[in-house]
Amino acid sequence: MLFDFLFNMETQLTWYGHAAFKIKTTTGKILLIDPWIENPAFTGGKDELAKLGHVDLIFLTHGHGDHVGNTVEIGKRTGANLVSNFDLNAAVVSTLGYPESQAGIETTGHLGGQLSLLEGQLKVQFVPAWHGSSIQKEESAPPVYAGNPTGLIIALRDGPTIYHTGDTDLFSDMALVRRFHKIDVMLVCIGDHFTMGPARAAEAVKLVAPKTVIPMHYGTFPVLTGTPEVFEHELKKRKVKARLRVMKPGETIAP
Ligand SMILES: [Zn+2]
Repeated sequence: MLFDFLFNMETQLTWYGHAAFKIKTTTGKILLIDPWIENPAFTGGKDELAKLGHVDLIFLTHGHGDHVGNTVEIGKRTGANLVSNFDLNAAVVSTLGYPESQAGIETTGHLGGQLSLLEGQLKVQFVPAWHGSSIQKEESAPPVYAGNPTGLIIALRDGPTIYHTGDTDLFSDMALVRRFHKIDVMLVCIGDHFTMGPARAAEAVKLVAPKTVIPMHYGTFPVLTGTPEVFEHELKKRKVKARLRVMKPGETIAP
């Protein structure tokens, strides 16, 4: 019981597999990032999705299906507000039917902008990512423009500052992140094929210099061949000081 009590006073981070995360803040706010809860790497996805009764904010990095995932269903059911860039919010509302009243100007930003949300309990900064971004109503439908993809830096007032890279290659401007933010936790894609793989991801971690790094976007499909083992090796090769934390889909930690 005491342990439960202590645990609840800390920010909790759950990885659902792929690029999907849940953050529970110290005040009990529930934040989701790229909530593809029913991804093939997470066997408990269906149950977890049904259990998600209360969600405050849904953050999206870009429009691809493996990131938008269960966003619309969760948004309709919970009333969660959508936090993403202007073009992506517009595309998710117009193409997929996300409730317009939950994707208003207060939670819509764009690259370089920082929004203060939930009465100042958190700030989110939109930073670049090198990738694509479009929305498809169904697989055979033509893609709809969804703006530039982004990374997201979520700074919790009473908790860690978390950098979700989105899907991206390595780029040297990642070094600018640390001029403005001390990153506690970096959620970094390592899967290769559609994003940077382990070596380039290790170089990205070196530029950002977070306290802890958690790999994501690997192993979900056979083509995402990057592994935490190779990533660890690449980090060591570069003498990167960040602590590597490898999570299992469905696992919750106090980062
Ligand atoms: Zn992806």
